[in-house]
Amino acid sequence: MIKLSEENPVMAGSSAHTVLRLFYENGPASQMEIARKLRITKAASNQHFSRLIEENYITESAVQPNPRGRPSQVWQIDSARNFFLGLTVEDGALGAVLTDFSENVLIRANRHLHDRADQTALLKLLDDLLKTILNKISKLGGRLLQCFAAIPGMIDQEGLITNCPNFHALDGLNLDQLLAERYSIPVFSDACSNAYIAAECRNISQDSTIMILNWSDGIGLSVICNGVPLQWPAVNVKRFRGLWDFSHIRIVKEGRLCHCGKRGCLEAYYGGNALVELNPELHVSSAEELANAVINDAAGARRVVSEAAAALAEQLYWVIELFGIDTVIFSGTLASAFEYYHRAFCDRLKSFYTDEEFAVFSIRQGDPSPENIQLGAALVAKNFFFYPQRLRNSRGIWNKTGKLNPLSK
Ligand SMILES: [Zn+2]
Repeated sequence: MIKLSEENPVMAGSSAHTVLRLFYENGPASQMEIARKLRITKAASNQHFSRLIEENYITESAVQPNPRGRPSQVWQIDSARNFFLGLTVEDGALGAVLTDFSENVLIRANRHLHDRADQTALLKLLDDLLKTILNKISKLGGRLLQCFAAIPGMIDQEGLITNCPNFHALDGLNLDQLLAERYSIPVFSDACSNAYIAAECRNISQDSTIMILNWSDGIGLSVICNGVPLQWPAVNVKRFRGLWDFSHIRIVKEGRLCHCGKRGCLEAYYGGNALVELNPELHVSSAEELANAVINDAAGARRVVSEAAAALAEQLYWVIELFGIDTVIFSGTLASAFEYYHRAFCDRLKSFYTDEEFAVFSIRQGDPSPENIQLGAALVAKNFFFYPQRLRNSRGIWNKTGKLNPLSK
């Protein structure tokens, strides 16, 4: 078993971590500037600097912050030796991307799981995948600062995966603990929506209010305002809060049973899996096949998905209005068929707005390719490395008993 040869990593809250964060936020800087920001003497900062230089966290920068001033030694994070890993589980496959500090992709790896409920096979694939990645890291002479594992299901505050309805092999695992113990990898696991948000918002202006609709097996909804996802701290609450649980808002009392345990949820009617189950005449068995049926114009598929898109527009109107959304991005498996239901979605939304009001919206297809979502996961890893508390505060539901959701098996 490979372990990272990292005896004493830079930990959140340590002074060395604070120095790195200052470099991350401010770019290249001299030791004097950093010392000033930390409100310590240059002599006192020597210890941090020697360690960070010796261990290849930082390196000398060619950038001179003040070209007219006296040249001074300027430092920056050593981009080529400090890495982030994004792990995803999408469409029955494990995926990973390793990036350097400047978000350049160093390696991608994917492994397909034949039986989505087979945990033994999953762990074997994960082992194989991580060995490939760790070998690459060791060849490059770098280190993994942080991994983010994007979970397509429910997770509790401690990182225990309680219910992945479309990938049961993950149920009962705590990847944070497991990967730390087996491979000495620092991992933070949370809902895959984090990776979608990071991936889809990468090239969007900061001053937008964005809604990401992840239309796949189920329906996920995220709202991002000025670059910050709207998330409510989950500490000591027994139910999801905020928009996390949008798709489990009931639209029919005592309606269809949803995998969450409730009846009549939005997702139980309009999630990809629900559309597959409710429309046997389409002869499709997954959201992916449904998307392909729409693209290939298989009989009835476009009508089914367009009607669902219109129904979603009606359900989403108040969210769009309440949060002042200006950009709606369709992501997830069904995003590939966007052009065929785009019209139905817009037409229903237009029934709530004047032409003038409607003209300000940008409603478009995202890029939910596994490559992009994996990159998003690596970006979340980077974000977590510097601001761990932000993500920790909003992870999962309260699960004091440490038990799995009874519906997960
Ligand atoms: Zn539900």
